[in-house]
Amino acid sequence: MLMNTKNIPHAAVIGAGPAGSYTAFHLANQGIKTRVFEEHSQIGLPAHCAGHISIRSLKTLGLYPLQGIIENLFCAANFYSPHGTKFALQLNGPVTAVLNRARFDQYLAEQAQKAGVEFILKSRVQSLFMQNGVVTGIRVKNSKEPERHIDASIVVDAEGISSRLLRQTGLVPLKSSGLVYAVEAEMDNVQDVEGQAVEVYFGSGYAPGFYGWVIPRPDGTAKVGLATDRGDPRIYLKRLMTKHPVASKQLSGAKLISVAYHAISLGGPIPQAYRGGFLAVGDCASQVKPTTGGGVIFGLTAAKEAANVAKQALIKGNVCAAALQPYQKRCDELFGFDFKTMLWLRRFLGVLSDGKLDEMFRVCNRLGVNGALRSVTEIDFQGKMLLSVATKPAMIAALAYFGLLYLQG
Ligand SMILES: Cc1cc2nc3c(=O)[nH]c(=O)nc-3n(C[C@H](O)[C@H](O)[C@H](O)COP(=O)(O)OP(=O)(O)OC[C@H]3O[C@@H](n4cnc5c(N)ncnc54)[C@H](O)[C@@H]3O)c2cc1C
Repeated sequence: MLMNTKNIPHAAVIGAGPAGSYTAFHLANQGIKTRVFEEHSQIGLPAHCAGHISIRSLKTLGLYPLQGIIENLFCAANFYSPHGTKFALQLNGPVTAVLNRARFDQYLAEQAQKAGVEFILKSRVQSLFMQNGVVTGIRVKNSKEPERHIDASIVVDAEGISSRLLRQTGLVPLKSSGLVYAVEAEMDNVQDVEGQAVEVYFGSGYAPGFYGWVIPRPDGTAKVGLATDRGDPRIYLKRLMTKHPVASKQLSGAKLISVAYHAISLGGPIPQAYRGGFLAVGDCASQVKPTTGGGVIFGLTAAKEAANVAKQALIKGNVCAAALQPYQKRCDELFGFDFKTMLWLRRFLGVLSDGKLDEMFRVCNRLGVNGALRSVTEIDFQGKMLLSVATKPAMIAALAYFGLLYLQG
């Protein structure tokens, strides 16, 4: 039974992914009646994400240690160039964690529920209701009832990468040219991997436009995946498993448990993520790292900001676009520089041929870049991370060399 919220400020959140549930949690904590509409019957399923997350960012958000959700911790990564040169990065301590994504999403929803959020499952938001350019409600459909119109003082769109509803507002959606297509598989019996290291494989023959990964767990299972900007990711995964000089050995006896397909947006955040009565958070606003495709931390960070700005606007009884603009400002302040840096890095990687990538790996080994990065504890805010190591001699030389490669490309 839905509550009657006619005269009290109330928010409707679309999607119970991490961005949606976390926005709802913060809205409810600030005393705003909040309902989340999720099209699936279970939160967190079907899962499509590797769930590889920075520990530091989880701590900043107050979401650590996540007992029963974190499956492994990592203090190392092995990167392989297209022709198999290895760049081994060993950090001073654990920097990343791999989460059970379904459990993580369910945990965030449970926290939101405890704060008073109502979750309405099996309910797909079909469209937004708009009056004079301001979003004033949603149209929802579930399998049992006819489509309903639900008023909302504010609508938060956290529908993920499809961003179908966001398009209805007239906001500029994420760039289709920035999309890569990913396959994410659960595998058992993965061999010859270090327990505390993530494996990353580059090369146009295996993952053109992106990279492949193996994220191991202590029990011999692993999350294995890749993304590509062209062709069928399934075919590339098969090739990685059978032809790659390193991955083929690690995965030769692997047993496929499950597989999922999903797109990732690498084009950087949309230019404007708000309008009257409406805020967009997470993948639908393309708040995703252009380098790695990681979107959970940026989505959660933006979610908190969206809830704060929504609350201020609702207190003043004015949710016009100007009242919600501070959300954009905060996001730009928090990650504008990092996104600019990561977009540059993405473009840089995009212009490198396999041969140049091989050369780059050899040069990084020669310069001792791994030593310069040893103290890194931050992998999300990569602009700030690069600044923190940029004065080390190995990094100065490496960055100068990268610049040269970029100009040549
Ligand atoms: C293969 C792969 C690997 C990844 N690995 C990582 C990683 O290691 N680390 C990381 O940080 N990120 C990773 N990502 C990205 C990460 O999955 C996303 O950034 C994150 O899930 C975004 O969260 P979200 O809440 O914005 O969207 P989603 O998690 O996509 O949630 C959107 C929710 O909205 C619901 N929904 C959609 N439309 C409607 C509608 N009309 N009505 C009602 N409900 C609706 C959906 O069912 C879904 O539950 C990966 C992505 C892929 C594809």
